[in-house]
Amino acid sequence: MGKIPRLVLWLCRKFARQDLQELVAQLQDILAGRQPEPQPRDDFRQEHPHYRDFYVDPLAPRTQPPPAPARTLDWRQLRTQYQRQHRRPLAPIRRAGPNPLPSRCCCAHCGAPRDFLYRNDGRHACQLRCKVCGRVSQIARRHRPTKTPYWCPHCGRSLFCWKQRADCTLYKCPSERCPHYLQKQQALHWNEKLLQKLCRTQFKLRYQYREYHFQPAQLAPAAPDRPTVDLTRLHRSSNVLGLVLAFHISFALSARKTAQVLRRVFDVPLSYQSVLNYAQAAAYYCHAFNLRYKAPLSDTATGDETYLRVAGKYQYTFFFLDPQGHHITSYHVAPERDTLAATVALGEAARTLPENQALRFITDGNPAYQAGVHFLNAHRTASQPPHTLRQVIGLENLDAVSKQFRPFKQLIERLNRTYKYHVRPACGFATRNGAVALTTLFVTHYNFLRPHLSLGYRVPIPLPELSSITTLQGQWNKILALALAS
Ligand SMILES: [Zn+2]
Ligand SMILES: [Zn+2]
Repeated sequence: MGKIPRLVLWLCRKFARQDLQELVAQLQDILAGRQPEPQPRDDFRQEHPHYRDFYVDPLAPRTQPPPAPARTLDWRQLRTQYQRQHRRPLAPIRRAGPNPLPSRCCCAHCGAPRDFLYRNDGRHACQLRCKVCGRVSQIARRHRPTKTPYWCPHCGRSLFCWKQRADCTLYKCPSERCPHYLQKQQALHWNEKLLQKLCRTQFKLRYQYREYHFQPAQLAPAAPDRPTVDLTRLHRSSNVLGLVLAFHISFALSARKTAQVLRRVFDVPLSYQSVLNYAQAAAYYCHAFNLRYKAPLSDTATGDETYLRVAGKYQYTFFFLDPQGHHITSYHVAPERDTLAATVALGEAARTLPENQALRFITDGNPAYQAGVHFLNAHRTASQPPHTLRQVIGLENLDAVSKQFRPFKQLIERLNRTYKYHVRPACGFATRNGAVALTTLFVTHYNFLRPHLSLGYRVPIPLPELSSITTLQGQWNKILALALAS
């Protein structure tokens, strides 16, 4: 009996009908790709690791053509050497008629003048052979103006515009002798080489660059909607608002439990919908507050994305954390974990950085981060140093980079677990605004109110305005007052 029928038999013996139905439903979700985790094992992918995947080359293209190769030989020295060996000078070429070569042309390798140059290719008359060094060169190097603004960082060939899409233009290196192309071709297994012959386009072997056309408006992090509740005119005392935020955000109680605590402990009649409305109104102001009160950045930012459910679909929250100060430097909620979302998060993490500094980003292997870093670097001036990216791949340290930067990755994983703890009581969100609002308030709590173990129970960004206030609800009220005042 095969292993699948045996497994089925075992399942039928162990589980009841209802359990099996649930199991089938979950497996169908996984197979349909409706869940980001876990993913089924992909045998084809494991056997063909080079099969086309969205992979972004870590090297950015050159924006200037590579300089012409320098001359390695000197024709005068070579000529003296010849004289020493043969005891007679190397004679110039004797021609019957006038010299047909242009007067300015010379050997590209040793600089010998036209008296020592032959035409090497008859009627085409574009190649020269040098009598001094014996090498060939072109009469005039072709300087065709190229339309593309990029050159391959591996071989120096100009990249051609391969595809034009709404959000990006793809450029590709055409060279058959590009070291990058040759190395990728070498790395193919014999069966992949066969497969590549059948479907040539399915393997990404050549150097490619995606130039994204994001507009500044697209690059703003997700912000909560302007609230319908006016916080300045709350008819209840502002202390209630502080209590709502303290229980709902800082102690991660669900909206229903927060309403219950207020009703049963503090005798404040409040519906759970009011709790949500208050939180969303506070989030609108706290978002601007979070962006304004950013602490000075160190030279490193570590980031990751995690998922939450909005109206039954997965959305992704991106975080960047400063590993020294333990404060969140960037947060963004997006429907996809694509290049745009990663670029927004990366851009916000670097927004307050001084002009002459660059960040070292540490992320997982998601190629969107590499594309995002290329985008940010392309929009920096020549005098600004480029941002760098280190990607920690997989769960095991299989390469030196992963080993060195794993501790940074663990910091952000820890933050994600804290975030999940705060998001879980909501059991998914009905609207995207709800998810953005809770994320915003979580960041305010994490940066300004939450004592951190590795900082000696200090908060990551201590504000002098909060130091004299002892209660949590008082501190929330003060933050709201500061946020509303501007
Ligand atoms: Zn020469
Ligand atoms: Zn190339």
